[in-house]
This record gives sequence, C-alpha cells and structure tokens, in this order.
Amino acid sequence: STEPIYCTGCGVEIQTEKKGELGYAPPSALKREVVICQRCYRLTHYNEVQDVSLTDDDFYKILNTISEKNALIVKVVDVFDFTGSWLPGLHRFAGGNDVFLVGNKVDLLPKLINRNKVINWMKYSAKQLGLTPKAVSLMSTKTGEGVLEVAAQIDELRKGKDVYIVGCTNVGKSSFINQLIKQFAGDTDQLITTSHFPGTTLDVIDIPLDDGQTMFDTPGIINHHQMAHYVSEAGLKTITPKKESKPRVYQLNSEQTLFFGGLARMDFVAGERSSFVCYLSNELMIHRTKLDKADELYKQHAGTLLVPPDQEGPLELIKHSFTITDQLSDIVFSGLGWVTVRGEHVKIEAYAPKGVGVSIRPSIT
Ligand code: GDP
Repeated sequence: STEPIYCTGCGVEIQTEKKGELGYAPPSALKREVVICQRCYRLTHYNEVQDVSLTDDDFYKILNTISEKNALIVKVVDVFDFTGSWLPGLHRFAGGNDVFLVGNKVDLLPKLINRNKVINWMKYSAKQLGLTPKAVSLMSTKTGEGVLEVAAQIDELRKGKDVYIVGCTNVGKSSFINQLIKQFAGDTDQLITTSHFPGTTLDVIDIPLDDGQTMFDTPGIINHHQMAHYVSEAGLKTITPKKESKPRVYQLNSEQTLFFGGLARMDFVAGERSSFVCYLSNELMIHRTKLDKADELYKQHAGTLLVPPDQEGPLELIKHSFTITDQLSDIVFSGLGWVTVRGEHVKIEAYAPKGVGVSIRPSIT
C-alpha cells in the first residue's frame, strides 16, 4: 500500500529505500506494531546518534531558527577538507551568537605540524569566509586528542546558554556528539530525546546539560563541494588518509606536472627548479609528467592509470592560478591534502573538480 507510515519516535515519514537519509527504517521494521526510524532506534537503544542528510531548504530553516535564539553555536569542520566542509552562509544566521569553530580529524595531519599554525590558518580562513569565531580549537574524535578540552571550552563559552552543534555530513559530528553524551549524560537512559524542529519535518537531538540548559545536535547537511562526491566508496578510502600522511617530495623543473590520481593536477608553469612536498593520503598515487604531455595523458588515462575516480574518462577539472613569491606556501586541495612549495616567483596552475576548493596559505609545515 502507499499509506505513509510515521515514526512513533520523531514523527518523520518512514522510508525504506535510502539508508542514511531521514526516516529510513529497514523493511523488516515495518512488520512491527510500533514502527520507529533507525535514527530513533539507535538513539533509544544505544544512546547513540546517527547523522542524517537533509535538503538545503530544511537546513536553512534550521539555521534561521538558531539565529533567533540566544545560544552558543559550535561549528564542526574537517581540517583535512576545510572548504569542503565549511557550511557557507552560517555566519549570516548566527545572529549575535558566538560561534566556536572546531576542526576535527586533526589526527590526519602529520605530528610535526605545529597545531597553532593550523589554528591561525583556520582563523584567517574563517574571516575570509565572513565568520569571526569566538574561539578555534582542534580535536580528533578518533584518537581523543582535544575532545575533553573542546567539551570544557563549550561549557565555558556557553555562559549558561543552550548550545547548538552544527556541521555538514562526514565531519565527525556524530562521533563527537556520542562522546559528549558519554561525558555529559553518563549512562542514564532516557535523558536524551528528540524534538521537532519548527517548520520542518526534522528532529534535533536534545542533550540536557547540568544547569538545565540543552545541547542540540542539528542534522548535518550534505555539502556538494566535497571531493568525496567525485569518487566511489572505494575511491574515498583511497583519498582519505587512514593515518598520518607521509610527505612525498618532488624536485621539479618548470613545465612539469603532478597528477594526484585522476582527481587533481598541479602544473609548475614557471620558476626556478623547486621542491614540492606532497601531504596526501599515502595510498593516493602521484604521477609525474611533462606539462606539454599532461592534457593528452589525462584524456587517455583518466580512470585507468590515473585513479581514483575509477570511472572511465576524464572529469571536468577547473583551473586555479597561484604565484608564490618568496614565502613557503601550501597549495591546499580540499579533501585531498596539500603541497608545500618552496621557491621564488613560482607560477602554479592547480586543477580540481568543479566546486572543490583549491587555495593557498602560508605553509603550516
Ligand atoms: P558525521 O556525518 O559528521 O556525523 O560524521 P561521523 O561521525 O559519522 O564520521 C564520518 C567519518 O569520519 C567516519 O568514517 C568516521 O570514522 C570518520 N571520523 C570521525 N571523526 C574522525 C577523526 O577524528 N579522525 C579521523 N581520521 N576520522 C574521523
């Protein structure tokens, strides 16, 4: 039948087709008398949140609601995919509220990298993107680095107010919330509830805080600018570092090109012989070639020699031009990593799929 079924937990319409999306329940769940969506199931049985993706429209409704509150906003981004996980527009919705910017997955950065430099770069980039955060911190929900400090900072920065946690999908927001739940809510069942977000079919997760205030976990939005959208599940495993990235060094003359799988390309257009240090997933193949052969190579070998993506044929890559004068600089490919370039008056043209951020920063290495 086509009669809609609603989750008895949060009221969302149940669907059995799209795993990970709002209202999903496995088909077997429909046989039960009381039907709840998988998200509510996890929440009630395991005190564990699961991220669901939602439409831009619903997301902006959520942001609008937040702008009317007096609260602390905690924005979680992925340090390895900064622009890809940015959530454009949040600053316009923050209202007068403080924003605490938290960079997760810091474990993916080489240990030798000075954390303060990363924080300064995040502050600078946030300002460029229109947001002045009250504080910036790094953490890894995987190793636990910084997580307790971030929790303590939230408690301090909120000054007795409610807290909204926002972030796009895949930044590690669920992992973070689940650790906060352990931290703040102990193992007391039934403390955590879901409630409807006004004007949407969405629910937020409410975690009570000691002083009677609430921490709200808002659903994550899919950011369409992530490198992840151009690769399969297997490809994503290849480009996402599983552990600290081991730098790979190339001494290049001008008119040489590096391909990073079939996803990105960097042309050394002009300048003296220089060193290029690549901080990428150790599994991502780097292919060096001559600049005048690069176009043809990509046309011929994208999807075969140059992978991921393993789809046959080239992607549409967009060009970004940079000139490095005398500063040690990083060319950052959001979601892939970066290349540190030392050289004087080096001209570089970097290519990435449409929408994927490529930027330059003073080197953090
Ligand atoms: P959400 O979509 O934002 O809720 O993110 P999840 O918590 O589901 O995590 C998304 C992916 O990132 C999962 O594959 C996690 O294992 C991974 N992840 C989350 N936190 C970290 C972290 O601190 N370091 C690393 N390396 N991976 C992480």
